[in-house]
Amino acid sequence: MKIFSGMRPTGKLHLGHLLGALSNWTDLQNKNHECYFCVADLHALTSDFSHTEHLRSNIHDMVVDWLAAGLDPEKCHIFVQSHVKEQSELFLLLGMITPMGWLERNPTYKELRNETTEKDLSNLGFFSYPVMQAADILIVKAEGVPVGQDQVPHLEITREIVRRFNYLYGKTFPEPKALLTAFPKIMGTDGRKMSKSYNNSILLSDSDKDVQKKIQGMVTDPKRARRQDPGDPDTCNLFPLHQIFSSNETIKDVRNGCTTAVIGCVDCKKILLPNLEKTLAPIREKRIQITNDPAFIQDVLDQGAKQTREQSQSTLEDVRKAMHL
Ligand code: SF4
Repeated sequence: MKIFSGMRPTGKLHLGHLLGALSNWTDLQNKNHECYFCVADLHALTSDFSHTEHLRSNIHDMVVDWLAAGLDPEKCHIFVQSHVKEQSELFLLLGMITPMGWLERNPTYKELRNETTEKDLSNLGFFSYPVMQAADILIVKAEGVPVGQDQVPHLEITREIVRRFNYLYGKTFPEPKALLTAFPKIMGTDGRKMSKSYNNSILLSDSDKDVQKKIQGMVTDPKRARRQDPGDPDTCNLFPLHQIFSSNETIKDVRNGCTTAVIGCVDCKKILLPNLEKTLAPIREKRIQITNDPAFIQDVLDQGAKQTREQSQSTLEDVRKAMHL
């Protein structure tokens, strides 16, 4: 299956990205699907057009994290969106057939426009980003897009655009399917959603000392005020990390120990740390190797863009022919 996914270049990634996307991407590439993973720099411009000074370093940091987390350029195509100009041409052409009402009804658009005060989202680029997203997916004729449940409405716009295009000009694109993945919910150290903007993230690039400090300071069950109070793992931010990184036996012991106050939160965090490190230490090590080899990163992106361009040129030829251009 041809698979497409992408991320906006936000710089260094955190545990949420690893568990929510990168682990899944690595599995898909290892199952021999033809995977395209895109650094969506043009999407970053839709909302951050006035702050582009960190764009290049953000792209670099994110690609280093992708590679360190297991993406293998021998098994997948890793590329920067703006390096494949065919995508932008397809965006323009798809814009011709996309009714504005579809974009006005996009729930994320309405929500972000109403809630975001610190960014100017009144531009055409932001309004039309679902069309750009459709062009990203369709330029490689992807058949599958790994998404969480909350992103299904986005993909539905792409599917609607495909149906309209195929109806108007003859069957050109496959209708991409959502490859639904159950993402574990990872909370930040302060109990809110893990996000770099809240400064509550455990980064893949954090040193072991940083991780230790962050876990030690992590907010746990808010009702467990004293060591002798029993806790409730199901309302604790830390427990989901045990459920991901600890063995079944440890999870059981932690649950029992917590609900009977046999263990305190400090003990619980000490039990978690080595288990978390089993995943983070190899990523950290690989990160250092990759960072010391800038030519390798450049090569990965050049190669990825070249491979994606080949597929994209063939798609555009089909599109131009179908539209009588
Ligand atoms: S003992 Fe562990 S699971 Fe229980 S509240 Fe403390 S940190 Fe959370």
